[in-house]
Amino acid sequence: MLNATCEVEEAPQFEPADWIGVDRGIVNLATTSDGDNHQGTGLQRYRRRHARLRTELQAKKAAGSRSAARRLARRSARETRHASNENHKISKQIVADARRTERGIALEELSGIRDRVRLRRHQRATLSTWPFHQLGEFLQYKALRAGVPFVEVDPAYTSQQCPVPWCGHTKKANRPDRDTFRCRRCGFAGPADVIAATNIRQRACVAWAFVSMPVPDPTIRGKGDATPARQPAATGSATRREHPSPKPGHSRPRS
Ligand SMILES: [Zn+2]
Repeated sequence: MLNATCEVEEAPQFEPADWIGVDRGIVNLATTSDGDNHQGTGLQRYRRRHARLRTELQAKKAAGSRSAARRLARRSARETRHASNENHKISKQIVADARRTERGIALEELSGIRDRVRLRRHQRATLSTWPFHQLGEFLQYKALRAGVPFVEVDPAYTSQQCPVPWCGHTKKANRPDRDTFRCRRCGFAGPADVIAATNIRQRACVAWAFVSMPVPDPTIRGKGDATPARQPAATGSATRREHPSPKPGHSRPRS
């Protein structure tokens, strides 16, 4: 089985100026570190209605109704399509935002989702984690196609850690309820999913700096402004000079 990502035509990747952290969840399918919520149009209501109808149909199917079995299959196919559509729309928009603002996209590794998204018993039957997984895949291949850097970060405690750089206090008690974050040490508070997305963004910044740090390679130097402009490169990829020598024409006071 081939992965969809293998067939993607990749655009050359730009160097991100920053990252958009994306937190995946149930109520808000995706929340970004910019504070944008992507709920998925009517997905909650849609799911609830489907779940109810499905329970009815399942009972009929168990009682031997063939048409119920057929309708059940059709229903779940429709539900799958609906969720896929929403995932396409959401990922498309996030990737467009990232590209426009020259930022990369950061997600938490999927293993984090199952721990964090605690489903109630009745939800467990109706919800699987595939939509989260799918959103991640869509984001990744759309990002690759658009030349947007994409990373996955360590999911541990993204929802419990205080994002304030000098604080970083990490405690379960920072989450008084599912929707709220409030740091027990410094008092910083906000919507839990935005906080999680912010942590994801910060982890990406750290991870990226780490990955793309040294590897001193003289052939690539000279692009940044850190290099003293001692020798003009012979093979001039004419970068603009930061400090042009004083122009001869310029009058100096008191000559
Ligand atoms: Zn704090």
